[in-house]
Amino acid sequence: MMTEAKTDFSKGAAYINGQFVPISEAKVPVGDWGFTHSDVTYDVVHVTDGGFFRLEDHLDRFHRSLEGYRLNPGVSREEMRAILGKVVALSGLKDAFVAMISTRGIPRVYGSRDPDDCDNTFIAYAVPWVDVIKPDVQARGAHLLVAQVPRISQNSLDPTLKNYMWRDFTRGMFEAKDKGFDTAILLDADGYLTEGAGFNVFIVKDNKVITPDRGALRGITRLAVLDICPELGLEPIVGPITFEELMDADEVFTTTTAGGVMPCSRVNERIYGNDRPGPISAKIKETYWRKHKEGWHMTPVNYADAENPFAVAA
Ligand code: PLP
Repeated sequence: MMTEAKTDFSKGAAYINGQFVPISEAKVPVGDWGFTHSDVTYDVVHVTDGGFFRLEDHLDRFHRSLEGYRLNPGVSREEMRAILGKVVALSGLKDAFVAMISTRGIPRVYGSRDPDDCDNTFIAYAVPWVDVIKPDVQARGAHLLVAQVPRISQNSLDPTLKNYMWRDFTRGMFEAKDKGFDTAILLDADGYLTEGAGFNVFIVKDNKVITPDRGALRGITRLAVLDICPELGLEPIVGPITFEELMDADEVFTTTTAGGVMPCSRVNERIYGNDRPGPISAKIKETYWRKHKEGWHMTPVNYADAENPFAVAA
């Protein structure tokens, strides 16, 4: 008797056009404004040890981004949660990145420039975990370059609404690579620190842990660090950071879903501490991962039943 081959989701699972497919089959058409105009928003949540971290915070931020860009894919928050759980359960991945995306879509009327002529999409996928800054670089402390290119004005592009418009970051990353640095961070046109390509930045000065109040995404990892600081006797501050304050800091670290708390040891020609991750950055990093293990803000996935990905496993 012939048995039907089981679909292989082990390299990642996606939801697109209302179907669950292996990640290699998830494709966006060239006519989608998400591709032609970067008219798209997204969010990325991580799964570690089989549980989502701060899933509701990510869904809150995604909905804020959808409203900010006037995107409505016609999928309820509950449906999105179920789809996100299902792509993880199908993939079987215990450590994963899980993306939710909405593109403007393809205009129903050929050649139209009216965004109301488009049906907005909802896409989701789970893929295996990869650190945005490689683990060996994290261990020695990342070397950051303050790039020449300024961060795009927040009057033109609201950085708190997640987006794929990375021209400034990409220019900065090439400059950093050319000059032998790991990655770049950007100042705004007034000279204040903003963020980097896919991560927030913090400085440590005495017992103060400070992150920019402008030009940056309200990162969920940043939020976790702000939450952790008081229990370590540190004062979290969201405020302006000048280039001079960055150079004068005791320590610098970056944060992102795709890597957690990532200490830095150099910015431009400045070497912090003993050219290694600073003690406060290391302590925050250690606390962040310990709290994951303790189940802090974790939503376990029920891998046994992808149709009920959040039911408690029997
Ligand atoms: N800043 C930018 C531009 C990002 O793209 C990201 C994440 O992808 C972050 C900051 C960090 O945010 P989170 O901690 O929510 O991943």
